Amino acid sequence: MTYLIHGETGDWEVVVGLEVHAQVISCAKLFSGAATDFGAEPNTQVSLVDAAFPGMLPVLNRYCIEQAVRTGVGLAAKINLYSVFERKNYFYPDLPAGYQISQYQHPLVGEGVVTIDLKDGSTREIGIERLHVEQDAGKSLHDQDPSRTFVDLNRSGVALMEIVSKPDIRAPEEAGAYLRKLRSIMRYLGTCDGNMEQGSMRCDINVSVRPAGENALRTRAEVKNVNSVRYVMQAIEREAERQVGVYESGGQVVQETRLYDPGKGETRSMRSKEFAHDYRYFPDPDLLPLRLTEAEVDRIRQSLPELPDDKKERFIAEYGLSPYDASVLVAERETADYFEQVAAGRDAKAAANWVITNLFAVLNRKGLGIAESPITPAHLGRLIDLIGNNTISGRLAKDVFDIMADTGGDPVAIVEEKGLKQITDEGAIEAAVVQAIAANPGQAAQFKAGQDKVVGWFVGQVMKLTKGKANPQQVNEILRRKLAE
Ligand code: MN
Repeated sequence: MTYLIHGETGDWEVVVGLEVHAQVISCAKLFSGAATDFGAEPNTQVSLVDAAFPGMLPVLNRYCIEQAVRTGVGLAAKINLYSVFERKNYFYPDLPAGYQISQYQHPLVGEGVVTIDLKDGSTREIGIERLHVEQDAGKSLHDQDPSRTFVDLNRSGVALMEIVSKPDIRAPEEAGAYLRKLRSIMRYLGTCDGNMEQGSMRCDINVSVRPAGENALRTRAEVKNVNSVRYVMQAIEREAERQVGVYESGGQVVQETRLYDPGKGETRSMRSKEFAHDYRYFPDPDLLPLRLTEAEVDRIRQSLPELPDDKKERFIAEYGLSPYDASVLVAERETADYFEQVAAGRDAKAAANWVITNLFAVLNRKGLGIAESPITPAHLGRLIDLIGNNTISGRLAKDVFDIMADTGGDPVAIVEEKGLKQITDEGAIEAAVVQAIAANPGQAAQFKAGQDKVVGWFVGQVMKLTKGKANPQQVNEILRRKLAE
């Protein structure tokens, strides 16, 4: 897609790469047996290893490594059978060891790809540079006391996957689509819950700009720790505009770390960017290099579920859906499963429409996920059947649907109870038609004078008389016959 910033000196292209820290779903931490539950009382999930007591040794949790390999396979990436944990040295109050155990020269996962789905139904591939495994730091709490800062080490040592994209992203919308897709894949895999508000997925954004048509990359600034898809998109827009302003006023963009302030809608400088050599990386002497076998990786590869891209292709081929509808339905595994239950043995396009248009609206309004939907797939399927076999009109089906959403009821029972069954009896419809014509001689004369569109107006009259229950097709046919008499 084309996204350009129109500056005073011409058009500017935006170049973006994203680094995502994704928290691994695991009951225990990367190098200790302490628990990882979100929202626990501060410092209740801290082992001596996490608190960096002298002499404590890290023990690798193989399950976290399996999760990271699973993610790598899901990103169609190269899995490195040999990788190394290194110490990344820096001081911070929430990092008691004075270093983070991470991977640097030999990451667990190499190059891969994420296919993003854009609004117009098209797709684009964004390259993955690497995925490495590392431990999280603790958290400084600045809001508990007016004059003191506290440290909570519950998060210290929790396993993270740092997923680094290539600088392939060219628009805020593409960044949003990338994050949504990455999250979708990890949720399918069960490797990260992707919950950005709880911090289990955090995003650093590398942004640079260049005159449209220029090939070389210019200096980038990094916007740290943005915690929602919407803010990521806003931050890219604001930061790119800022950089264009710097260049156009004759300045130079400097490599630095910035923060996005959503309230002010601007990024601001936090610190000058540190370089890799500032961290004095070296292999952690407490940990052996990590070795995997082809067999282990194959076993994980075999255990993968059908992922969103494959599911999307299948939905297009099997159900005849548009690429856009298919991508919307497969974004969450639960939604895809729900749709397939509704569509089984029925008009799949109708099923897709009901789910995307009507069901999503209800769930949005009620603030519910699909798992808590008051309308079960079986009930929605039955509603579609009632339209298909002419028991109710499409118009009344919407009313039945609203009742189902409020009561969780069975559509068959609702139609019965409220007397909403469609009138298909010729005689009954004819009687209503005759009544409508007799009451409106003026409009009937207009039809005779050749004004065809008055038929639609008469359909409305007949529907009023039958409380919306007459079969619209039959009404149309009988009306035309009777008006012509
Ligand atoms: Mn990191």
